Amino acid sequence: MAAIRRPARAVLAGAGAFALIATASPAIAGPADPSDLPAYSTQLDRPQTTDSAFVTECSEEPRDLPINEFTDHRELGVELDRIERNSDGRVDVEQVGMSNRGREIWSARVGTGPKAVLITSEIHGNEKTGTDAILDLLDWLSTSDSAKAKRWLKELTIVAVPKMNPDGAELDRRGNDMTWEEVTARFPQLRGSEPAWNYYTGSLQGDDYSDRPGFDTNRDYHPDLNYVPRAEDFPGTSEDTGWYITPESRTVRDVYRGLTAEFGEVDVYVDLHHQGACYVMPDDPDEFVTLSISGKFVDDPATMPGYEQYAANYDLDHSKRLNVAVYNALQGAANNRPLFGNVTLYPQDTNLPGTGLGSFALNGSGTVLFEVRGQTQTLGQQYRAVLTRAVYIGLDGMLSAVASGRVDKLDPADYDAIPPRGPSIGSDASQERKAASQQ
Ligand SMILES: [Zn+2]
Repeated sequence: MAAIRRPARAVLAGAGAFALIATASPAIAGPADPSDLPAYSTQLDRPQTTDSAFVTECSEEPRDLPINEFTDHRELGVELDRIERNSDGRVDVEQVGMSNRGREIWSARVGTGPKAVLITSEIHGNEKTGTDAILDLLDWLSTSDSAKAKRWLKELTIVAVPKMNPDGAELDRRGNDMTWEEVTARFPQLRGSEPAWNYYTGSLQGDDYSDRPGFDTNRDYHPDLNYVPRAEDFPGTSEDTGWYITPESRTVRDVYRGLTAEFGEVDVYVDLHHQGACYVMPDDPDEFVTLSISGKFVDDPATMPGYEQYAANYDLDHSKRLNVAVYNALQGAANNRPLFGNVTLYPQDTNLPGTGLGSFALNGSGTVLFEVRGQTQTLGQQYRAVLTRAVYIGLDGMLSAVASGRVDKLDPADYDAIPPRGPSIGSDASQERKAASQQ
């Protein structure tokens, strides 16, 4: 399969790029094998003076907050290029698709192992820490000579698609940037249909979509990876499958389908999100949730009419074990920095087969959802470093458990014992905003 190569880029500009590179450079090797850790982790893994405000203060009011320290689309291209060039052939970066507005969607592949792991971030463009966590992970894995890195490279094939909705990311909003007219131009069979239910044309999370409508790309998936949009399936609902009408979901579907053909199945699929800023711990309403996780997104296909064909491959216990590995890693980190321990289970009563996680779970992948606290319009980049680190710690623990095979010995019952997410006490937020801030 011919890959479209990105042109090499050498020029860096903008505070964001410099900030990222300054914090994410590979560590200089020393006696304690610091190549196992990003250079800044020794600070981030210890309590900071801002931690008490982090766990006790919150607002859901949309504000115009800075995001320039996050990695934007151009900086992502620069960083991926740098990581690939410095990796001595370990990391392969390809352009795998293009957004509706013509921005490159890249994948980074590393490792030669038999277990395929797909990781995506920023399907919602105002949920940005996942992209930075992926870059930190690639940065470490591309150069580390540690035994851990060698095991990962031997056992895993990791394919990351960071910032999969670059148009939404550049606008710092949830939806992509695409009109229904552009959809029907591409799929003429949909002319005359009602637009998809997840088409945003009004106000959402403080963003005005009336001039630049868009879709929630994370409701545009279908477990039938060969599905072609049909007029009778519109407008659909949140409990229905999606349609692959957005180029962003089609790109990830194509990557997933390619990995399925190559490996038989994708062992793990991880999708990195943010949730509302004001969810509290269930047993301590004075402390906010740092991160919610989940492995369950759809009802049991054996009991869902029309989904029976997915029952044989669906493996909820595998997803539960993966999430237990994430949880355990963060509880371990909480020994040094307690806010990493504020991890809860995302609501388990969701039935969303149109999400990437739902569709790929139905195809047999173990699935992991990360929902770190606060979107950019509520927290901005205020806690970017610690939230990115929380994602990193969870990913690192989970991937280590998969690479070693230890994950198979974990008990799915431990997943059910993870504390449920408490209520959101951002009381002045509208119901619409609360609903939209979930996943
Ligand atoms: Zn999200």
